[in-house]
Amino acid sequence: MRLRIHRGAKEIGGTCIEVEAEGRRLVLDVGLPLDAPDEEQETLLPEVPGFREPDPSLLGVMISHAHQDHYGLAAHIRPEVPVWIGEAGHNILKAASVWVPNGHAFAAPHFLADRKPVEIGPFRITPYLVDHSAFDAYALLVEAEGKRVFYSGDFRAHGRKGALFERLLRNPPPDIDVLLMEGTTLGRTGTSEGFETESDLEERFVEAFRQTKGMHFVWTSSQNIDRIVTIFRAAKKTGRVLLIDPYTAVVLEATGRDTIPQSHWPEVRLYVPQRQRVLIKENELFAELDRHSRNRVFREALPGLAERAVMLFRPMAMSDRGVASVLEGAGFTYSMWDGYLKEDSSQRVLRWLERNGVARQSIHTSGHASTADLQRFAAALAPRALVPIHSFETGRFPELFDNVVPRADGEWWEV
Ligand SMILES: [Zn+2]
Ligand SMILES: [Zn+2]
Repeated sequence: MRLRIHRGAKEIGGTCIEVEAEGRRLVLDVGLPLDAPDEEQETLLPEVPGFREPDPSLLGVMISHAHQDHYGLAAHIRPEVPVWIGEAGHNILKAASVWVPNGHAFAAPHFLADRKPVEIGPFRITPYLVDHSAFDAYALLVEAEGKRVFYSGDFRAHGRKGALFERLLRNPPPDIDVLLMEGTTLGRTGTSEGFETESDLEERFVEAFRQTKGMHFVWTSSQNIDRIVTIFRAAKKTGRVLLIDPYTAVVLEATGRDTIPQSHWPEVRLYVPQRQRVLIKENELFAELDRHSRNRVFREALPGLAERAVMLFRPMAMSDRGVASVLEGAGFTYSMWDGYLKEDSSQRVLRWLERNGVARQSIHTSGHASTADLQRFAAALAPRALVPIHSFETGRFPELFDNVVPRADGEWWEV
């Protein structure tokens, strides 16, 4: 078996790995590089034979999870190339695609499922469901020609599915020749001490909600399902309902899990900001709106509800009159990676908060494993070679892990 990393050997974002056996090939992830300008995306698609021109030796593409840095360039691949992705991950992408800029969904993908091997030509792929900030995320074991490669994808141990990490460590796939392991958090602050768990965050949200007189806004990603559950639980503990918008409602529905908050739950309310009403009209999303309107509240009801509510915030809410009417006594929590705060769109939100005298705090934990958890993971899998990926600090791998063999982007090597 041969491997080459197209992108990701020295960076976070744009992950793409090509695997070859018996002259046939599979690709693991086709991610969008961070900060890639929209107009250049197509030119950034890796030079994989079969992506642009027909090539029958390319058997397909496996998407580890529905984060842009793992699937974001896939829209530029010939549509005839088969794609595998988790079913719930696919459903979330599909549901979200009409609500977000640059939304993308695969036309007819095959589905990955936890520990259900897939045979494709000379390859046998076994997906392992992992704990990550994206729902339905997988690590992938690739077997061919008697060799075994394990690709970690993105993962952590401190989320709501941390049990998956411990299960993998108790019973790791044996005899791994190459481990491609992510190292997102290396070099970031606090990573050696370990991170707060989602349950820790839940307690902090409870505190924050208790200390807020009026409405409490939380700015997070609607696709970070773990976090939405954390916020919902904290809201419930403090006697507050969770106000979501239709986009969040369709994403929660797409998880297909009745254990995850849904728009019809008694502790959940639907609120549609003005800008989203326009979007619904333009895209004729009336059926979606109807389906999620059982607990709908209108602008006039917001002031009366404010002290008993938590609203998931999205920047489009800044221009909404209903939101403007509940800023007095409001609280605001930022619940995403701090790095995004530097972006212009975030700066606009910060200025809006300042103008309206709303204090901001941050409550967040990483979607990626701490150094200690990466070390436990690497030790359990005990690969013959550990190849760094998805990290800006790949140079630090040798001091932290055994058997590290760094590879360069574009370099083919024999496993
Ligand atoms: Zn990633
Ligand atoms: Zn990810």
